Amino acid sequence: MRQNFLKRVRRAVVKIGSNVISNGDGLLLPRIAAISEEVCRLRAQGLEIILVSSGAVAAGKGVLGISGRPQTIPLKQAAAAIGQPRLMRAYKECFQSQGYLAAQVLLTRDDLANRRRYLNARNTLLTLLDFGVTPIINENDTVVVEEIRFGDNDNLSALVTTLLEADLLVILSDVDGLYDRNPATHPEARLIPLVERVTDAIEAMAGGEGSALGTGGMATKVKAARRASLNGVGTLIVNGRVPGMLERAFAGEEVGTYFLPARDRMAAKKHWSAFTKKPRGKIFVDEGARRALVEGGKSLLPSGIKGVEGRFDRGDSVRLCDLDGVEFAKGVIGYNLMELLRIMGKKSSEIEATLGYKYGDEVIHRDNLVVSAASEADED
Ligand code: GLU
Repeated sequence: MRQNFLKRVRRAVVKIGSNVISNGDGLLLPRIAAISEEVCRLRAQGLEIILVSSGAVAAGKGVLGISGRPQTIPLKQAAAAIGQPRLMRAYKECFQSQGYLAAQVLLTRDDLANRRRYLNARNTLLTLLDFGVTPIINENDTVVVEEIRFGDNDNLSALVTTLLEADLLVILSDVDGLYDRNPATHPEARLIPLVERVTDAIEAMAGGEGSALGTGGMATKVKAARRASLNGVGTLIVNGRVPGMLERAFAGEEVGTYFLPARDRMAAKKHWSAFTKKPRGKIFVDEGARRALVEGGKSLLPSGIKGVEGRFDRGDSVRLCDLDGVEFAKGVIGYNLMELLRIMGKKSSEIEATLGYKYGDEVIHRDNLVVSAASEADED
């Protein structure tokens, strides 16, 4: 069964924990090299992989002579400032030796909470993937303050999975997966290979504590898996200290713990775009565009737009109406009102000349569009 899910994976987020790539004294370069090589081989098979890597604080704290977890926030931030470039240099060199490029992306929770910045982060990451570059994401530890922290990279990796519509989240941990009780204190603890649904009982099995290096323990991993699952994405927690584990996991071997998606991803995505955002405006389109959207499953291009109403920004949800004003779809728009007024009726190839820039050919990408049930039924 697992193999069936993994066969369909095209894009995956791989989270690498501090305890996987560092010990108390800094980075474990051979392990970073081994994991990077596996990522490059998976890439060569056509998979798109986004890394979320911890390890900045772990890489920097030894330099400051700190042992254990840094006790104050400034100390942690100073350690991250020292460690993050070291971490990235290690990845850059490992990727380069395999003929690949890696890029650093540092995020704060604010970057994903604000819709415009959310779209910008998404566009940047998708552009890197288009160029075959592997983004390596971390929290922007050096400047982040409590109010805008993700908290831990498990949570960040789940958010990135949704941001990029990845098909799988893989969490490389320093344990083999989720156990029915804490394996450190209970030698009889058993590994749970499959979690069909993350219930409160499952979360309770994960316990609470983190470690000296990483922020989260198993609890934050299970929370991340729950979040991904609710968004229609499966999560694998496997032991990243075991050589070859990543490739084995992608091959569908029964390693670690696999958390099933709670529902179909497309349904989750469409549900999100259609119902979780209050529409801020209306777009009136001609019959050709309406048919292309409803029957052809196409994206909305500027050429089919005849009129707009309301005040909306990029990333807002809007209603799509035909020229009689009958609503037939909702979608998340990629241009704001002022931009749209200037490009409506024009060809996509004219967007850049008109605005001086462009975010994409589509005003609403089909992935961000849901046709109302009534319209779909009409076409049957
Ligand atoms: N961002 C932190 C680091 O790179 C790690 C956060 C976490 O362990 O989840 O050191």
